[in-house]
Amino acid sequence: MTLTPFFEVKDLRFRYDDSWVLDGLSFEVREGEILGIIGPNGSGKTTILRVLSRVLIPQEGEVRLTGKNLSALSQKEIAQIMGVVPQDTYFPFPFTVGEVVLMGRSPWLSNFGFESEKDLQIASQAMALTDTLGFSDRLIFELSGGERQRAIIARALAQKPQVMLLDEPTAHLDIGYQVEIYDLIKKLNAEKGLTLIIVAHDLNLASEYCDRLLLIDGGRIYKMGSPKEVITAENLSRVYQSKVLVEENPVTGAPRVTLLSKLMSESAGRKN
Ligand code: ADP
Repeated sequence: MTLTPFFEVKDLRFRYDDSWVLDGLSFEVREGEILGIIGPNGSGKTTILRVLSRVLIPQEGEVRLTGKNLSALSQKEIAQIMGVVPQDTYFPFPFTVGEVVLMGRSPWLSNFGFESEKDLQIASQAMALTDTLGFSDRLIFELSGGERQRAIIARALAQKPQVMLLDEPTAHLDIGYQVEIYDLIKKLNAEKGLTLIIVAHDLNLASEYCDRLLLIDGGRIYKMGSPKEVITAENLSRVYQSKVLVEENPVTGAPRVTLLSKLMSESAGRKN
């Protein structure tokens, strides 16, 4: 892994209305890393992804993508570098999976907008990687949550991006599918060298799969570093305002979080 910054974020401030939602963030995303963004609801995680993908323009500060100011790049140039997997993807028409994945080629099409044989090939490679080729002719909203999420990742992959931004990619999935999506993320990182930025709501998955974590609290960085540096009982109890137990996962060595309610810890105390 090289240490070239892929994204450089400096003194970033963003507000939707009167109050700052992102309040002075500075951090770097390294080329080839898996960065997890964690933090309580409403702390600004999705807003960070929207600023990094230039859906939102910050009022203050600057974002550089591979050394270039993000605001100097066109949407098309950004889409050729960056694939985005949003939290909820709505399809207004009954598209097939194959059609959805092919949409990922649009940043590369000429003004006439026709896909070439090469575009079809790239879409089909993206489907092979995500194991979605088998349902290429099925309608996107007929798929299960996990299958649909893989198809949406395939669409982002068809853009041939260097970086992929994913917003809570496992939010509505059961545990089997959650692991499947994170395994896919790891594979894309290892085999394709993709840089990945993931807003993660599951702290244990973030701890297992991410190289580094950015812990956000109230629009500010509380801590950034390796999972071992970030996932500590002290950090989490402060930021999430709840009692947690952090141990080492005996199988992988990564920090493992167990939530403790006040009730549980009091009744355990009485038993001992
Ligand atoms: P997270 O992803 O950590 O849950 P968000 O980035 O979605 O946090 O939201 C951060 C803050 O910005 C919250 O207080 C939220 O209510 C507010 N917010 C999010 N989207 C909008 C919007 N479109 N307009 C106004 N406020 C918003």
